[in-house]
Amino acid sequence: MTKWVYSFGEGKAEGRAEMKNLLGGKGANLAEMSNLGLPVPPGFTVTTEVCTYFYAHGRQYPDSLRAEVGAALAEIERIVGMKFGDAENPLLVSVRSGARASMPGMMDTVLNLGLNDVTVAGLARRSGDARFAYDSYRRFIQMFGNVVLDVDHHHFEEVLEDHKRGHDLNLDTELTAEDWQEVIKGYKEVVQEALGRPFPQDPQEQLWGAIGAVFGSWMNARAITYRKLHDIPAEWGTAVNIQAMVFGNMGGDCATGVAFTRNPSTGENAFYGEYLINAQGEDVVAGIRTPQHLTIAGKIANGSDLPAMEESMPEVFAQLNAVRLKLERHYRDMQDIEFTVQQSKLYMLQTRSGKRTAPAALKIAVDMVREGLISEKEGILRIEPKSLDQLLHPTLDPKATKQIIAKGLPASPGAASGKVVFTAEEAEKQAGLGENVILCRVETSPEDIHGMHAAKGILTTRGGMTSHAAVVARGMGRSCVAGAGELRIDYKRGIITVRNVEVRAGDIITIDGSTGEVMLGEVPTIQPELSGDFAELMGWADAHRRMKVRTNAETPLDARTARKFGAEGIGLCRTEHMFFDADRIIAVREMILAESEAGRRTALAKIAPMQRKDFVELFKIMKGLPVTIRLLDPPLHEFLPNSEAEMVEVAKAAGTDLQKVQHRSLQLHEANPMLGHRGCRLGISYPEIYEMQARAIFEAAVEVFKETGETVIPEIMIPLVGTKKELDILKAVIDRVGAEVIAASGHKVDYLVGTMIELPRAALQAAKIAETAGFFSFGTNDLTQTTFGISRDDAGAFLPDYQRAGILEHDPFVTLDTEGVGELVQIAAERGRKTRPDIKLGICGEHGGDPSSVYFCEKVGLDYVSCSPYRVPIARLAAAQAAIEGEKRASEA
Ligand code: PEP
Ligand code: MG
Repeated sequence: MTKWVYSFGEGKAEGRAEMKNLLGGKGANLAEMSNLGLPVPPGFTVTTEVCTYFYAHGRQYPDSLRAEVGAALAEIERIVGMKFGDAENPLLVSVRSGARASMPGMMDTVLNLGLNDVTVAGLARRSGDARFAYDSYRRFIQMFGNVVLDVDHHHFEEVLEDHKRGHDLNLDTELTAEDWQEVIKGYKEVVQEALGRPFPQDPQEQLWGAIGAVFGSWMNARAITYRKLHDIPAEWGTAVNIQAMVFGNMGGDCATGVAFTRNPSTGENAFYGEYLINAQGEDVVAGIRTPQHLTIAGKIANGSDLPAMEESMPEVFAQLNAVRLKLERHYRDMQDIEFTVQQSKLYMLQTRSGKRTAPAALKIAVDMVREGLISEKEGILRIEPKSLDQLLHPTLDPKATKQIIAKGLPASPGAASGKVVFTAEEAEKQAGLGENVILCRVETSPEDIHGMHAAKGILTTRGGMTSHAAVVARGMGRSCVAGAGELRIDYKRGIITVRNVEVRAGDIITIDGSTGEVMLGEVPTIQPELSGDFAELMGWADAHRRMKVRTNAETPLDARTARKFGAEGIGLCRTEHMFFDADRIIAVREMILAESEAGRRTALAKIAPMQRKDFVELFKIMKGLPVTIRLLDPPLHEFLPNSEAEMVEVAKAAGTDLQKVQHRSLQLHEANPMLGHRGCRLGISYPEIYEMQARAIFEAAVEVFKETGETVIPEIMIPLVGTKKELDILKAVIDRVGAEVIAASGHKVDYLVGTMIELPRAALQAAKIAETAGFFSFGTNDLTQTTFGISRDDAGAFLPDYQRAGILEHDPFVTLDTEGVGELVQIAAERGRKTRPDIKLGICGEHGGDPSSVYFCEKVGLDYVSCSPYRVPIARLAAAQAAIEGEKRASEA
């Protein structure tokens, strides 16, 4: 019989940390903490399998669930010596959701469940604190009303505000038991009015209502959006955790807080967290009261004048710090914890691996390797390759003049500039139009996630370092300034005011999530420093990876950037990109529009010295590393002049008349150019083009050798080959030119001629093509296009439909379709190697910088991946992770 419920408490548990799939993250870790002997209030977890059952059976529960929940509840009652629904000594519980991965889009928490008109009186008598009891009851009605009964939050807020105004009260703490009783009356009326029935008084009905709400929230729109953004499958389901309440709001010796075992922003190995005296958990997260710091150091660093927990509750703090160290040693990772202090006794309510910024992830991983807590390989696996992006991105230029209008909390690092928008919808809309936007909100909530994702940065005027905006932005890698309280946002007028400055929707601002500064206008930025921990981690990655990492680059700037990021050569130099420069486009157009070989040769002679200079520069930057140069690839009409003025200019340069140019231009136009007269087909029709390019390459190699003594071994690459014959013909042209240059210069140049594999026919014919090709480079952009028969330029219009319909999980132009396109890659690699065992294999499509595609390349055994300069470090790390995972698989097999 399936077991649906797992209990924990009294220093033991039925579950363990490894049972995350069944118990969810929260439940598994509550069990683990109980097993570790930490002070965890007793409770139980209803498993994720119940959630799955629930949706598979028309929202019904398994038959035995009620009995199991009843027994587990009785066990809590036994441990704490209280009774659920008892008029004299009522047990109250919390109900929380808990999926495998934390999911901010879902129903979160209901506290104080079990309170009603009768039990509240019992709680008042038992605790000797009527104010506390009625405050707890009104919180319960509000939370339950909001998250279970779906009554809008602001109805309750209005009742409370009205009461305060009517009685001339400012702070919640000024309200007495009698005040709360009146507020409760108002709250119950709100529920009655909204639902047409009274607030449920039966604790069992409350409990099952809350359980149902947790399971129901798994399929709400926010949760679905979040899952989509984070690749979380719907089948995982959520668990429900039910736990005896402990109270942080029972007086001055009570508190509640959240903490990280290391600083989640910088990674510094220092206890980092916030707490509130006499408060319940949601007060900290909601950012309604200003939290106090745990440590004196934290208090000083943040310029707070409120006492740190280290000062106000030194004994409990020492205990908490001991828990911190124990948890880190046990989990061997930075933890994010929640705790409550009830009458000076510490209780642990949650632990999980803490979300951290990319810089913090790096520092923590490197520090933990140094501390001997984890191995180098584990350190490498701890960093999400894509997150390195954040370390490579610009920060504000310290020399730039900044017009700072406010300072908030440095909630998520990195600088971002953009247009001010006030709603998530507007952020999404503007970003869709290609605008950079900063989403400005008083505070954010899970409804805003899609807008936060679309924005470059997030600015809030309320909330702390653990507020929703801060946590979500860090997870997403968006820069964020939170709690900039001097700013006043007026949503209605679409305006932010601070002192006498007004910022309107659409104005540009800059935020610095590392300092908390908010600035007017766009502030210039500088490149990041890649030394220190970053270099150390990348060094480990380099030592553990098998595949080389090259870059796709043709400009000196890109080539230098890529070298700085550790590129080990160029995997793709797209020579056509060198054709667009203003000083050469005329000659290029002249070449294209020429009607005879002689005309083309005249124009090519003008281009040749410029190409040679380009290659000399690239070879010098790459200092003997391999450089793959691809000969002209795109359809010629991409270079055609568009306006009449441009045509006149070309006609003049070529010594012909406008009409001829116009006529030829029409002739060259193609309806489906990506399948047309491009790639090696140009070389077949106009061999003189490839001849010029090959000559420029050889001459550049000779020149670099003569100038610097550096030996260059160019890899000359022919695009869009489909047959061996094409390659044979073009290789012969290259070999002839090579022999000529070698003879004329007296310097021997070693070189390779190879091909791109970017047509299915080429993949299938790889055995034959390898007879001629010295290397294959998988052009997976075109290979994806030609395998799917989907245009890489136009697919954006309907790919989202395919993703929604579940036909494609990812955009195949971003993440390699390992099943289909991948099979062709595998076939070509196998067949190519069979013919030529030492054939060099690489990938130069966009997928070369996508971590999951890099994993695939490792599996197929490619020699290198090549990607754009900024993705080189990502590819280096992903290649190392792929190699380590490969070793693991091999040793398991
Ligand atoms: C490719 O097709 O994958 C490739 C790298 O070439 P391009 O993107 O220039 O067509
Ligand atoms: Mg291509």
